Amino acid sequence: MTTDTASAPAPLPLLVLGQGTDLHTERGVECPGDLPAASDPDLVERARAAKAALGDRVFVLGHHYQRDEVIEYADVTGDSFKLARDAAARPDAPYIVFCGVHFMAESADILTSDQQTVILPDLAAGCSMADMAAIAQVEDCWEQLTAAGVAEQTIPVTYMNSAAAIKAFTGRHGGTICTSSNARTALDWAFEQVGGVGSDGTGTGKVLFLPDQHLGRNTAVRELGLSLDDCVVWDPHRPNGGLTREQLENARMILWRGHCSVHGRFSVDAVDAARREIPGVKVIVHPECQYEVVERADEVGSTEKIIQTIAAAPAGTSWVVGTELNLVRRLAQQFPEQRIAFLEKNVCYCSTMNRIDLPHLVWALESLVEGRVVNPIHVDPTVAAEARAALDRMLALPGTTHKD
Ligand code: SF4
Repeated sequence: MTTDTASAPAPLPLLVLGQGTDLHTERGVECPGDLPAASDPDLVERARAAKAALGDRVFVLGHHYQRDEVIEYADVTGDSFKLARDAAARPDAPYIVFCGVHFMAESADILTSDQQTVILPDLAAGCSMADMAAIAQVEDCWEQLTAAGVAEQTIPVTYMNSAAAIKAFTGRHGGTICTSSNARTALDWAFEQVGGVGSDGTGTGKVLFLPDQHLGRNTAVRELGLSLDDCVVWDPHRPNGGLTREQLENARMILWRGHCSVHGRFSVDAVDAARREIPGVKVIVHPECQYEVVERADEVGSTEKIIQTIAAAPAGTSWVVGTELNLVRRLAQQFPEQRIAFLEKNVCYCSTMNRIDLPHLVWALESLVEGRVVNPIHVDPTVAAEARAALDRMLALPGTTHKD
C-alpha cells in the first residue's frame, strides 16, 4: 500500500489572492492600517518599545516553527497546545499575541477566558493541513458513514491541527482531540468506546481520524498494532470518499485525506541519502511524515520530543531532523556540540507560519499601545463550547502532557 500525499496533494482551487472572490481564503491578505516596511531599520527598537509599553498587559506566544526575528519577542515558546495552555495560565494578561497560525489562535481563544483577546498578527497565517478538512466536507462524510451503517461504530479523533469547527464536530459526536504526543492514548481511549482495539482481528469499532492521515496511520499501525490494511483513506473530493461500503465496513481507521505540506514532503530517498553521506547519523522525524519515512527513521516524535532528544544526546552525535526548518536551524545554533542537519533539500519553511514576521508583530503591538485591537480571533460561542468538550476529553486522558 502506498501512503500518498506528497506526490498527489488534495486538489485546491487556483485563486488569485487579493481579488475579493473568496473572502474566507483571502482572510488577511491585506492588513488594514500602516504595516511597517520590512526594510525599516527601527523595527527591532519599535518592537522592544511597544512590548515594554504594554508590560504585563500583553503575553506573546511563539510557536517553535516561527522565525528567529519573532521568537525574540516571545514570552514563551512551544507547540500549539502548550502555548494555548500557557495563555490560559496567564488570565491577568488581557491580550494574547499568538505568533503561530490560525487554528492555534482559535484554540487559545477557546481555552482562555472571555476577558482575554487573542490576536493573530497576520490573518493569512493559516495551515494547509487544517484547511484540508472543511466542516461541510466532514459533515458530508459523517452522513455517508451513517448511510453506510458504520457511524454508530465510529468515533472521531481529531488532531489539534484543525479548525475550531472540526473540533466542535468531534465534541458533538463524542470524540476527542489529540496531539502528536498523546495520539496513541487518544486512539486507545477511542477504541475502548467502541469495543476495544482488537488488533488480533477481533475488534469491530472504528475511528474517523482527522485531518492528518499520516499521524493517524503511523499511530494506529506502529503503536496500536493495526495493519496498513485496517486503514482506509477518505478523500473528500471523491463520491463516498472514494471508498466502497465493504471497505468502510472492514476498516478500523478511516483516515481523512489531509497532510502537512511541510512534513509530507520528507522522503525515503532523503533518509537513505543522509545515511550514505553522514556515517553513524541518527534520523529523527515528526509523526506527520509519511509512514514509509517514519519506518526508516531511528526516532519519531513531536517537536518537544525532538528538542528533548537532541538536547539529551551525547556531544558529537550526528542528527538529521525531519521537521520545520526554522526549528532545525535553531536547534543547530543551540546545540553546536552536535552535528545537526535538515533532512530534505527540497523542503522549506512552513510558508504560512512565516507570514508572521517582524513588521506584522510590530503592527499588532503598536496598535495595542494606541488602544486598537487588530486581528482578534473570536470563535463562535457554540462552536467554542463543543470544541471545548472535545478538548476536555483529551485533558482527561491518562498521562496527557502539554506537548504535541
Ligand atoms: S507545519 Fe504543517 S501542520 Fe504545521 S502549520 Fe505548517 S502546514 Fe500546518
